[in-house]
Amino acid sequence: MKNYKILIIGGGIAGLSAMRALERRGFHPELVEQSDTIHSDGTGILLGFNAVATLYELGLKNEIEAYGLELSTMTAFDEEGKKIVACNLDYVKEKSGYTTYGIAREDLIDILVSSINKKYLKIGKRVQSIVNTEHGVNVIFDDGSTSFYDVVVGADGINSTVRKSLFGEIPLRDAKQACWRFMAKTPANFNQNGIFEYFGVGKRAGYMPMKNGELYAYILLNENKYDREHILNLDELLAMCQEFKGDWQLISPALTKASKVKFDMIKDLSQICITKGRVVLIGDAAHAITPNLGQGAAMGIEDAELLAYYLYFESNAHEALQAFAKRRVQRVQTIQTKSYMIGKIAQSSSPLFCKLRNSFYRLLPSRAIAEDTLKTLSRR
Ligand SMILES: Cc1cc2nc3c(=O)[nH]c(=O)nc-3n(C[C@H](O)[C@H](O)[C@H](O)COP(=O)(O)OP(=O)(O)OC[C@H]3O[C@@H](n4cnc5c(N)ncnc54)[C@H](O)[C@@H]3O)c2cc1C
Repeated sequence: MKNYKILIIGGGIAGLSAMRALERRGFHPELVEQSDTIHSDGTGILLGFNAVATLYELGLKNEIEAYGLELSTMTAFDEEGKKIVACNLDYVKEKSGYTTYGIAREDLIDILVSSINKKYLKIGKRVQSIVNTEHGVNVIFDDGSTSFYDVVVGADGINSTVRKSLFGEIPLRDAKQACWRFMAKTPANFNQNGIFEYFGVGKRAGYMPMKNGELYAYILLNENKYDREHILNLDELLAMCQEFKGDWQLISPALTKASKVKFDMIKDLSQICITKGRVVLIGDAAHAITPNLGQGAAMGIEDAELLAYYLYFESNAHEALQAFAKRRVQRVQTIQTKSYMIGKIAQSSSPLFCKLRNSFYRLLPSRAIAEDTLKTLSRR
């Protein structure tokens, strides 16, 4: 057993998953988080079957089953509420052996925190910079302290300081989509388990029920079509989606001022950055992905499990990080490209394109959609 001194920077889903995975392999990593608490952004999250499979491998099956809500379908509707396309998640489960879940981010973070050794978790500690040397990494913290590690894992998110130290300024790609996310109560007369989206022209709205009567919902608008600063008013935002019929008419009244929790401009990272010397990046720090496939966190969880695998099985840290990078680049590139493309197709501002898109998708057999999901997300 190699006795590497490992530092994980960042206590988000990727960093916490890495801590869990490394501890399962017998390592004793430290984790530093700049915030004074380990917390989520308070919204919901889709755990694709690949994320679920990896979390089960990390020994968290009982916890995910207890807190996640099993989803049976991923369905897109047009403005009228007529189905455009659906992915049968029951079929995906039957073929892959793993369920797709909706879960509150807070619950996922709690599950991960409960699974690690808190003795090595340091909150309110920020990494200022790192210096990669031949034999390890010197880490300089904001409080003026320094420490030397054999391996450093940068899990510090889309605006990663670690990435900047290693690779310089890598531009983010702006998808030009503004996203509002909400947590609310599921209306009493809504009782379907799935993730549902309405495709409009230059806009989308979606929702997913979760455990304990909670509802996660979101609205996406093309930035060039609307002035995002102007639409921060909830009534105006909901008015933008009032043409959506069907169940959206049930969901929309559940979204109140009390339930609006998060606003983001959707971006991804223009270049995948994995490793240099004894430092390795995981999660959004390495490969931020647009949310259209619901795979950003899933990729971070996969990274975590595979990084621990290679550090355990390869003969030295250099070989391990190289093998990890080789395995991950193609995988995350494929998911990132597909996710960005789906966002552009689902949210086109051209009425003609939207009409053709809807007609085309309606021709696709539902089995083909499920098979494509299995092929795209299956872990490699
Ligand atoms: C609208 C939206 C919807 C999404 N939906 C889904 C979904 O349904 N399914 C899915 O799989 N993914 C989804 N994602 C993607 C997912 O949220 C992210 O990929 C994931 O949360 C990133 O986790 P992370 O741990 O890599 O980074 P982060 O969550 O950003 O965590 C980084 C942590 O590092 C800390 N940190 C930063 N700098 C330092 C420093 N210098 N020193 C110490 N600590 C530091 C930060 O405080 C933070 O806690 C979505 C994203 C968006 C924007």
